Amino acid sequence: MAKDPKSGEAGGMPGTPDPALVGKLAIANRILYAQGVVDGFGHASVRHDKSPEHFLLARNMAPALVRREDIVTFDLDGTALDAGGRRVYLERFIHGEIYRARPDVQAIVHSHSPSVIPFGVTSQPLRPVFHMSGFLGSGTAHFDIRDVAGDTDMLISNATLGVALADALGERSCVLMRGHGSTVVGSSLEQVIYRAIYAEVNARLQLNAIGLGDVTYLNEGEAAKAAATNDTQVGRVWELWSKQVGPID
Ligand SMILES: [Zn+2]
Repeated sequence: MAKDPKSGEAGGMPGTPDPALVGKLAIANRILYAQGVVDGFGHASVRHDKSPEHFLLARNMAPALVRREDIVTFDLDGTALDAGGRRVYLERFIHGEIYRARPDVQAIVHSHSPSVIPFGVTSQPLRPVFHMSGFLGSGTAHFDIRDVAGDTDMLISNATLGVALADALGERSCVLMRGHGSTVVGSSLEQVIYRAIYAEVNARLQLNAIGLGDVTYLNEGEAAKAAATNDTQVGRVWELWSKQVGPID
């Protein structure tokens, strides 16, 4: 996209995002905190409803405190268009480069959810232990930043690293990031929040199951069928989780 010589911003503003979508993204951030997926760190984004070349993401802040006015519009290069001098997340490149690589992805969650971490530091993929995590399919993707950039602070803090992470994710729904966390993608905010929460739940259950003995996971066919059914039920848990975090200001 051409740079606007006046603003220095790529292509200028894409238009005002739907206020309902902005409110939903604020709620999504709060749900992730309430459900133990994020703490003071981690973030959720959604693709802009008026431009596939832009996405919405909170300014640099704890997810549990996000309000509507904290939501900023970014282009896919990770340039903030309306931050107004406010700090933005160091790892915004995760979002931009995945949206660029995956036109089907409408929402993304990046977190350091604790039970998932052991799977990123071993050769053990996260695999669906029960029907609720059918979206994990035949297993998660794996990304080791050291293979791409040597010794780093482990963060996806530039576009090159974002591209490498998107490559590792491929067509899967979840990528484990060695020594760091994970990133989950979905076709809606409701779906990606569901997936982020159940990735953490599945990790906990899988760790327990491995301790007991050989595990029979859902096979690819079962996982796909379970995921398709769950996608028709996501609204039910979204209603519950969003009520729990209350109305936002
Ligand atoms: Zn991170």
